[in-house]
Amino acid sequence: MIHYTSTRGSKQIKTAAQAVIQGIAEDRGLYVPEEVPALPFKLEDLRGKTYQQVAFQVISAFFTDYTEEEMQACVNGAYDSKFEEKEVAPLVKGGDVHFLELYHGKTAAFKDMALSILPYLLTTAMKKEKEEKKICILTATSGDTGKAALEGFADVPGTEIVVFYPNQGVSQVQERQMVTQEGANTHVFAINGNFDDAQTGVKNIFNDDAFAEELAQMNCKLSSANSINIGRLVPQVAYYVYAYGKMVEQGVLKSGQPMNVVVPTGNFGNILAAYYAKQMGIPVGKLICASNENKVLTDFINTGCYDIKRDFYLTNSPSMDILISSNLERLLYHLAGGDAAQVKELMDSLEKDKIYQVSEKIKAGLKDFYGGFATVEETNQAIASMYEENGYLMDTHTAVAYKVYQDYLGETGDHTPAVIASTASAYKFADSVAQSIGLGAEVDGFAYVAALHQKTDVRIPAGLKDLESKAIRHTGVLNLDQMKDSVRESLQ
Ligand SMILES: *Cc1c(COP(=O)(O)O)cnc(C)c1O
Repeated sequence: MIHYTSTRGSKQIKTAAQAVIQGIAEDRGLYVPEEVPALPFKLEDLRGKTYQQVAFQVISAFFTDYTEEEMQACVNGAYDSKFEEKEVAPLVKGGDVHFLELYHGKTAAFKDMALSILPYLLTTAMKKEKEEKKICILTATSGDTGKAALEGFADVPGTEIVVFYPNQGVSQVQERQMVTQEGANTHVFAINGNFDDAQTGVKNIFNDDAFAEELAQMNCKLSSANSINIGRLVPQVAYYVYAYGKMVEQGVLKSGQPMNVVVPTGNFGNILAAYYAKQMGIPVGKLICASNENKVLTDFINTGCYDIKRDFYLTNSPSMDILISSNLERLLYHLAGGDAAQVKELMDSLEKDKIYQVSEKIKAGLKDFYGGFATVEETNQAIASMYEENGYLMDTHTAVAYKVYQDYLGETGDHTPAVIASTASAYKFADSVAQSIGLGAEVDGFAYVAALHQKTDVRIPAGLKDLESKAIRHTGVLNLDQMKDSVRESLQ
């Protein structure tokens, strides 16, 4: 059985079900598997497996306390016809690279890959653990997690969900998706701050013992739908395993040959899932970590110094406008050989001094990673050239990854076949994408959706089609010090 332990050394060891319910460890650390399981099948046997089959086997390998029947029900409930592509995550060639399209779920971003299954994993865990309290999911979002979590948890019995997004820090389409959310248990607030403020505010609420006690009196318990929850992260490992199988099936690779992976990165969850796939035995070569102008990770990978004493930029890839990448803590733990005291020291230093420098040992472990970044201008150029030359439409986040991959090729000449994680539909960022491919200025984001469709004929995701006419149900705007009260009021 694989147990879960905190990156900061708490002595309380959890089952997967317990870790999923709790979200974040009592010492503020993140749950990590005590060991990363090996692939539960031979690499050659990956060929021909469906997405559901891969997801079932990969998630089961991590979450060993779920029975076969329980996991099968979770996977079947999650990856069904709500995905607009039968393959769930198709691998599509664009120019000389392959894109793993992770955005065909309900909310048109890759967050659906994990947030379609998290409610099943959580409610199953509640049954297994005989948890009778209502679970309140607190979520900070840079734009895409919020909607995917709302969609996943709307009207799920025994849960309430509260989402905080940065006011004016998300795209117009993203905002409208969230504020029109239906469901009696959904609560959405704009906060006067950026994503890091929202995430820190949520973490502070998690660590407020008196508040936890007060909620317990109300028969409630907090959990998280952010990628700090291990139940968010593990389902993402599956699509890198699946992608490898597809690369072999499509004849791009022979089974056993390495594949590079390129990931547009914000909170470091998606790329950490690729790292876990590599640890499981998928032949992943380089893990190419692409940032926008908030390039704290690029600098970290190149120097071993994580420094957030810098300006914060609002870019056209808002889901990556992040300086504090939470999941990096998990990588540090693994690279430090499980030395939780060292991780705690680094995290304390980040909180206190806004900077840390890792040991030589950790730095050596970073050699599997390449870090690069793209400016807004470079992102727009990448969208334009990919569309003009190959007719393939990238969203702004995917374009950041593509541009960084071009830099990687130029610098290293490493032409190992690569998969780029395509993380969102271009329509979520229609204004930037439309202007990049030469369409004129429109009055608002929704007019760009129509214009983009007219020019490219790319299908508009169902969830974005009637967005403009939907009733707005959530209008709250909060200061940071009102977050806790808003949770209390949402639960009453
Ligand atoms: C969340 C998000 C990212 C960043 O993913 P992380 O797991 O936070 O690194 C990239 N692109 C899009 C479209 C996203 O929604």
